[in-house]
Amino acid sequence: MSHSRQKLVIGNWKMNGGYRSAQALLQPLVTAGVSAVVAPPFVYLSESARQLAGSSVSLAAQDVAAEAGYGAFTGEVSARMLAEAGVRYVIVGHSERRQYYGETDAQVAEKSLRTVEEGMIPVICVGETLAQREAGQAFAVVSAQLMAIADCCGVDFLAGAVVAYEPVWAIGTGRTATPDDAQAMHAHLRGVIAGRNPGIAAGLRILYGGSVKADNAASLFAMPDIDGALVGGASLLANDFLAICRAA
Ligand code: PGA
Repeated sequence: MSHSRQKLVIGNWKMNGGYRSAQALLQPLVTAGVSAVVAPPFVYLSESARQLAGSSVSLAAQDVAAEAGYGAFTGEVSARMLAEAGVRYVIVGHSERRQYYGETDAQVAEKSLRTVEEGMIPVICVGETLAQREAGQAFAVVSAQLMAIADCCGVDFLAGAVVAYEPVWAIGTGRTATPDDAQAMHAHLRGVIAGRNPGIAAGLRILYGGSVKADNAASLFAMPDIDGALVGGASLLANDFLAICRAA
């Protein structure tokens, strides 16, 4: 089953970059001809699209407005604008958005819908906190986050989406989930979706995120239900990110 799912590696730059370093991070990927996705901050998207034109590197946005089209929503960037800028994937519900900006499952669902309406692919992030894991709630919390999207958008919606499992305690901490722990969660999530629609579950790409580095990527990717990675810190190091893409 896993053979039909192509591995996907997405670099999430978060609020990092700078105009020059954005160019310097993209060029090695283009030159190497790897297939990858990068998520620069909004202001670099248009220029990045020009730099990536004709390459096998696609663009992602780190967030999107829950409102459609255009309108009086100061500071927001809509899915339509992202699609016009050449964006193909949109990260939604990253734990930093949920934690620091109070994003709810309902908002994550709305943003996922806007993304698909404009022909792009949402990368829906789910993950438990350390306290939830230690309380033995990890499986319940994470599957509830995913099922909230399935309930709101319909399970068929996931055929056009990607899921990223990112345990909050592993993000930016250097503490990666073991391949076995990550695999257990990925298999659990796939099983929950399979309970609604086995075909969609079999085709659903579930990425792992949280301190993925050049030296642990291959062991994560060897797991049958880990279909790639959402990479934060290491995506800001050109050689490391390239190595992760090559391990996929
Ligand atoms: P990290 O971030 O790789 O720096 O842990 C992952 C993420 O937040 O997507």
